[in-house]
Amino acid sequence: MKIGLRGGHSANCLGAVGLRNEYEQMQSLYRYVKDTLEKHGHEVIDCNSNANTESSELREGTTNANSNKVDLYLSLHMNSFNGNAHGTEAWVYKDSGLAYNIANKMTENYEKLGFYNRGVKVSTGLHDLKYSYAPAIIFETCFCDSEKDIEIWSPDSWKTLSFNICNAIDDNIKEKEIIQEVKSDIKATTKNVTTGLNIRECPSDSSKIITSIKPNGLFHILWTEIGWHFVSYYDYLGYVSADYVKLLE
Ligand SMILES: [Zn+2]
Repeated sequence: MKIGLRGGHSANCLGAVGLRNEYEQMQSLYRYVKDTLEKHGHEVIDCNSNANTESSELREGTTNANSNKVDLYLSLHMNSFNGNAHGTEAWVYKDSGLAYNIANKMTENYEKLGFYNRGVKVSTGLHDLKYSYAPAIIFETCFCDSEKDIEIWSPDSWKTLSFNICNAIDDNIKEKEIIQEVKSDIKATTKNVTTGLNIRECPSDSSKIITSIKPNGLFHILWTEIGWHFVSYYDYLGYVSADYVKLLE
């Protein structure tokens, strides 16, 4: 399938800013969704924009999608309201057809991750839905000002959450839950570590430290993301930087 894809707004007009910044987060999700779809043989047309105003940014996106004759136009967003509202929702032009069916699967897949499912809503007025020739979906992944939503997605990463979006488009792409079931179990030890190797909550150098593995300590790798291994060490589970890991078998 040929998919026109954009990740919420532009560097010049940020969209929602809550506890997190919608533009920054959706650009990260955009890269993972694009990567996963392309790995499964789909063509992704970059419909991001650097325009200065919201209307020109929206127009550039749909113009690009239309001139590339995409089969589906998908616009990724984060909602924000009053800090209490939370959950996932999608917007489509009409309550039948390709976009409606995919949007339903998308919100159901996000519900499985623990997000409240606010449902698929119909609008004939929203720009992306009105001006895209192809069936179009505005997917509001969750709320960037909701602590509850951030708690659900932050222990994972947008990478893991991207599978639940891609699975709604192509069911050959597995959801996050299935990805975790096929985890490996590789024995490993530390490499070039003199004081200790930190196990962190998330795959990021700034993430909270859970514990530290002593130099040459043994642990198990359960799965791997770019630059990070998710490991078990005694009763602890978390991420360690792949730079300091030596595989034993
Ligand atoms: Zn938005």
